[in-house]
Amino acid sequence: KRNVLIIGAGGVAHVTAHKCAQNNKLLGDINIASRTLSKCEAIIDSIKEKGNLQSPGVLRAHQLDAMDIEATKALIRATNSQIVINVGSPFLNMSVLEACIGTGAAYLDTAIHEDPSKVCETPPWYANYEWKRSQACKEAGVTAVLGVGFDPGVVNAYARFAYDNYFDKVDSIDIIDINAGNHGRYFATNFDPEINFREFTSTVWSWENAQWKANKMFEHRKEWDMPVTGKSVAYLTGHDELHSLSRFLDVPNIRFWMGFGDHYINVFNVLNNLGLLSEKPVRTARGQEIVPLEVVKAVLPDPASLAGGYTGKTCIGDLVKGTKDGQAKEVMIYNTCDHEECYAEVGSQAISYTAGVPAVAAAMLIANGTWDAKRMVNVEEQDPAPFISLMNTMGLVTRIQDEQGDRILDPVQELA
Ligand code: NDP
Repeated sequence: KRNVLIIGAGGVAHVTAHKCAQNNKLLGDINIASRTLSKCEAIIDSIKEKGNLQSPGVLRAHQLDAMDIEATKALIRATNSQIVINVGSPFLNMSVLEACIGTGAAYLDTAIHEDPSKVCETPPWYANYEWKRSQACKEAGVTAVLGVGFDPGVVNAYARFAYDNYFDKVDSIDIIDINAGNHGRYFATNFDPEINFREFTSTVWSWENAQWKANKMFEHRKEWDMPVTGKSVAYLTGHDELHSLSRFLDVPNIRFWMGFGDHYINVFNVLNNLGLLSEKPVRTARGQEIVPLEVVKAVLPDPASLAGGYTGKTCIGDLVKGTKDGQAKEVMIYNTCDHEECYAEVGSQAISYTAGVPAVAAAMLIANGTWDAKRMVNVEEQDPAPFISLMNTMGLVTRIQDEQGDRILDPVQELA
């Protein structure tokens, strides 16, 4: 499979496009389509500026409303794209997936579909939208890889790798996401504020004793001692990956923890308690209808603008506990990423980088046939070894800590 259509021109799309360009011998033509043409063109300019095109080839920008399924199908056909990487807003997922089913192109995304009018869905979230199209993918022979960013995405592959190779029985998986970086602004979100806040204003679901448990945001906190970034407080947060891992792995406890500083929580609580994070319109004294969350988004820094000058590192990993040969065992599989190094390579911060690189690695595995499942899959349904090996060569290096110490996780060596 060759020729890639990237949907979206935000922070993650920027990285995705750079990484596709670095691998265009395998991937072929690279097309970028979004609502705002100038943003697609700016990404192409930055690829040229950084000299990130591996070999001479097509690099083209397109204006597209990806909610329009027919227009998306037409663009897939016009560009002869066999792989679509959807890194636009998660409101677009079902339309883009439909366009792929209609044209036979492979589909990849990095987040669960969201309906703008609903803040909280019943778990498992994938069953509300994506999995309903699973049969249609199978009938059309369409490969759809859901949630293949870092989290969800790489952390699902880490969970699968640990589950298959280090344990007889796994009792718990704690996914821990720490950004120990500093963007130097008073307050900002690392990706679309609307999506970011929706994650924290809804019910926090965790998978405990093989059942869904409803929690409140910031209700449960824990200090974790992470490799490289050290001790950080993280809070139980609701996240996509629990909604597939709980189905595909026989593990009774799966939780997601995200690190927040006290300052972030203070600002978030003030905004939330004032009603400024609401997506419900309010009427001003002058009779105008405005959506508070849209106003907050308009005044906050554009996440993409944080990249220059962002310092420090991220550390995201899976702490997996269980038993092997009757003995208690635990492993930590993780990645650390440096904001400044990401900026030097592709002009982005590490949050966008860690989400964009896996999507491109997955596209490459579809292009060379390794992951071309011809049906809808979540990441943990695919063999994690080639994925981890490929990312080790693409700027996202996986490490493992266990009783043998801390080392790069090279799947070939680990499984030898
Ligand atoms: P941005 O908000 O920066 O970018 C979203 C892009 O989608 C924008 O370019 C926007 O266009 C475009 N878009 C929105 N609506 C349409 C439409 N109707 N038609 C065409 N294009 C449209 O988001 P990010 O780059 O930060 O994130 C992208 C995705 O990646 C999100 O789904 C996010 O949840 C996910 N993500 C996943 C992570 C992971 O690890 N799994 C981590 C971080 C993000 P315009 O700019 O013109 O409005």
